[in-house]
Amino acid sequence: MTKALGYAAKHSFSKLKPLEFERDAPKPNEVEIDILFCGVCHSDIHQAKNEWSNTVYPCVPGHEVVGRIASVGSAATKHKVGDLVGVGCMIDSCRECEACKAGEENYCAGPNSWLATYNGPMQPAKVSPTGTNTYGRDNTYGGYSTSIVVPEDFVLKIPAGLKPEVAAPILCAGVTTYSPMKHWGVKAGDKVGIIGFGGLGDMAAKIAKALGAEVFLFTRSEEKLEEARKLGATGVMEDDKDAFTEHKGSFDFLLSTIPEKHDLNPFIPLLKRDKTIVVVGALDNLAPVNNMQVAGQRKSVAGSLIGNLADTQEILDFCAEHNIGPDIQIIPIQQINDAYDMVEDGEVRFRYVIDIASLKQEQAESAA
Ligand code: NDP
Ligand code: ZN
Repeated sequence: MTKALGYAAKHSFSKLKPLEFERDAPKPNEVEIDILFCGVCHSDIHQAKNEWSNTVYPCVPGHEVVGRIASVGSAATKHKVGDLVGVGCMIDSCRECEACKAGEENYCAGPNSWLATYNGPMQPAKVSPTGTNTYGRDNTYGGYSTSIVVPEDFVLKIPAGLKPEVAAPILCAGVTTYSPMKHWGVKAGDKVGIIGFGGLGDMAAKIAKALGAEVFLFTRSEEKLEEARKLGATGVMEDDKDAFTEHKGSFDFLLSTIPEKHDLNPFIPLLKRDKTIVVVGALDNLAPVNNMQVAGQRKSVAGSLIGNLADTQEILDFCAEHNIGPDIQIIPIQQINDAYDMVEDGEVRFRYVIDIASLKQEQAESAA
């Protein structure tokens, strides 16, 4: 057992506050990670506030986790003490279903689906009687904490050349945007539109550009037009009707990262025949799509959920090789509630990353 300190939401309308708990010692196939940094994904906010109606409290969010291996289980061979490693959204899956066998763990069709890094089994109304969950019990506690214990197969290697704080958001924002680009075959010369310029949008634009695409960023914020230009992309205001007319029928791929219910209908005419708009942002009901627009040019409206382990390692390595990464603002854990407000207001540029040293200091002070 290791004493851990995390920041947790106790219920759907609470601020995140310190929570002491214990991590189990690693089982034979697991490793223990001393956490250095954890990114702040908008999903953490949805989950902490029970916006998907499946949160188990207390909820310690965090699925963009980077740290060093602190100890390894007796049968674990893939990582050694001191290695710089990452954990994304999943810490296990059934490993037996067709999806898992095909290396698509994030689409695990086992009875409990994949095990999320926090809010593990995603089943409502099961609160741990002990509050000591680590893994495989009623709940899981994520990366807003001093340490984590994870099966070694679900631990990624952080390549040399990526700073740990920069690597963190790649574990969710990076792979969530890379995976659909890979699946739908985005390639050099394609015209790609990214809708919503936040944490996912920033990574999506950089990855698409590194793949050789021409990138457009659709935003509600005039200030972000300039930010788009700095990335070598073209910024378009979401209400610029002239631009929508000018670019009609010209896009090879569109990716929506908007976190709320929104209307896809204005974007569908932008696609070329046979092309796809993928929604990763709103995991929710969307406004009905006009199928005349879709069918008329055999277009597709699709969704995509995070990414598999191989793609996560691939995009970490790709970012190191192409020298790209998220724009980040490092914060101490004590500022997490203000950071949530900023993310909800679309004010983050473009990803907050928690320096877990601030949490370890709080832990040391409370022990003294
Ligand atoms: P951010 O808040 O960092 O970025 C979202 C951006 O969308 C904002 O910056 C803003 O950009 C735009 N936006 C926000 N609200 C609205 C609105 N009401 N209408 C139009 N545009 C809006 O969030 P993330 O990038 O971290 O995450 C985006 C979404 O993706 C979240 O809902 C998250 O849960 C989801 N997600 C899904 C995953 C999956 O597997 N499918 C994995 C990870 C995250 P602008 O200012 O440019 O308009
Ligand atoms: Zn995320």
